[in-house]
Amino acid sequence: MTGGVIVTGGGSGIGAAVCRQLAAQGVAVGVLDRNASAAAQIAEEVGGVALSANVANSEALAAELERGAEQLHGLVGLVNNAGIGNLKGFESYTDAEIDLIFAVNFSGTYSAMRTAAPLMRASGGGSIVNVASVSGVRPTRGEAPYSAAKAAVIALSQAAALELAPQIRVNSVSPGFIRTPLNEVLAGDEQLRSQIEAGTPLGRLGRADEVSELIVFLLSDRSAYLTGQNLVLDGGSLLNSAQMDPVLETMLDRYS
Ligand code: NAD
Repeated sequence: MTGGVIVTGGGSGIGAAVCRQLAAQGVAVGVLDRNASAAAQIAEEVGGVALSANVANSEALAAELERGAEQLHGLVGLVNNAGIGNLKGFESYTDAEIDLIFAVNFSGTYSAMRTAAPLMRASGGGSIVNVASVSGVRPTRGEAPYSAAKAAVIALSQAAALELAPQIRVNSVSPGFIRTPLNEVLAGDEQLRSQIEAGTPLGRLGRADEVSELIVFLLSDRSAYLTGQNLVLDGGSLLNSAQMDPVLETMLDRYS
């Protein structure tokens, strides 16, 4: 089997950590990001291929995935990690905001898998990992469209696992609070951060490299019998929802 792995949203945070870890294991990496310079910077660092598209634009995304697969001499893995969210009260979301959150998180994941599936079969098969969220397992106050879109990503991953087997495995990963540029404002608020840490059984925020460990495992043959699963990586915070609820309310009050 030859070929590489393409990571969407690979220019920052969790996606960049996946690119670094794959490259360290000798895997050829395609770094796709709507931010072309971020993609170029991480691609240069890991000796990979820089790709740029907005995942919400299915035609542009398909063209870049095909170009990436060609440059990587095949495609054996895809990580749909590009994602965006927002924090505001339920009645404040506009149609445009709801559409955008679904277009990036859900439709981008669907169309990337649709393009990647035949490319992976041509390479002898592969593994897809979609990045969802604990908010898709249990909705977060102030993140109604994001929570719904991530729940849809979890269901979509299971549907794809059914239909793309046996050549292609599909799983999702649902991180809790991970310190990345996405939530630096929240993590940088010391009072809020210590409340989040107190409500998390493992007592701290997660790191991007801890999420990428799990993603790289799911991409590898070490997980060859694992498909259609959603794996939660959150330091136990979901188990402690009652204690976390007031914290999330403070977060909404302060940052929406
Ligand atoms: P990040 O903001 O650090 O990185 C996201 C990357 O995706 C950026 O480089 C951005 O340019 C790119 N991107 C965004 N929209 C895009 C688009 N339309 N097309 C192409 N690229 C796009 O964020 P992160 O924290 O690393 O998040 C990665 C994924 O993990 C997201 O799907 C996010 O929802 C999910 N997640 C993050 C956390 C967390 O606490 N950080 C928790 C749960 C889930």
